[in-house]
Amino acid sequence: MIHLLLKTKKFIPNEFHTSFFDIDFKELYNNGLRLILSDLDNTLISYEETKPTKKIIDKFAELTNMGFEIIVISNNVPSRINVFLEGLSYKGVGNARKPFLIGLRKSLRVAEKNYSHKETVIIGDQLMTDVYCANRFKSYSILVNPLEKKTEKWYTKFNRKIEVKMLAKIKRKYSDVYEELSLDMRN
Ligand SMILES: [Mg+2]
Repeated sequence: MIHLLLKTKKFIPNEFHTSFFDIDFKELYNNGLRLILSDLDNTLISYEETKPTKKIIDKFAELTNMGFEIIVISNNVPSRINVFLEGLSYKGVGNARKPFLIGLRKSLRVAEKNYSHKETVIIGDQLMTDVYCANRFKSYSILVNPLEKKTEKWYTKFNRKIEVKMLAKIKRKYSDVYEELSLDMRN
């Protein structure tokens, strides 16, 4: 994992927001983005929750009306995503194995239309999985703060430790970007 610290740039998100709801989706749309690949755990709901809140359901409907397609992509088991999406018309990809690109490729395959990588925005709460795979996929990357860290699994806690080191490195090497993205708001 130490070698990853050498590739600092690949871990810098295009945008950082404290939550999914703080993202300026209109601006993303105006910039040509059409497909939203959103992480599930700690991005949309915490590990303790299973169903989307009304706020999420409304937001997804708003984004669809805006012209976006949304796919929920998660390293968690497909059954969890199915429960989350039950009764909704969005697609989900489980066992995505982020930061590998296999799940991203699959998402593009199952999407309703043909989207390019450049039309795709990947949103998630983890630098070491979501942002890293988005940047390697040459898609737009958005980092959000995790909803509830306490209930994270051991491997996520492990990723967080490396993330802290990575954030420190970004701050040191790319202080202007760090400041511009307000990464000091990261928790
Ligand atoms: Mg997550």
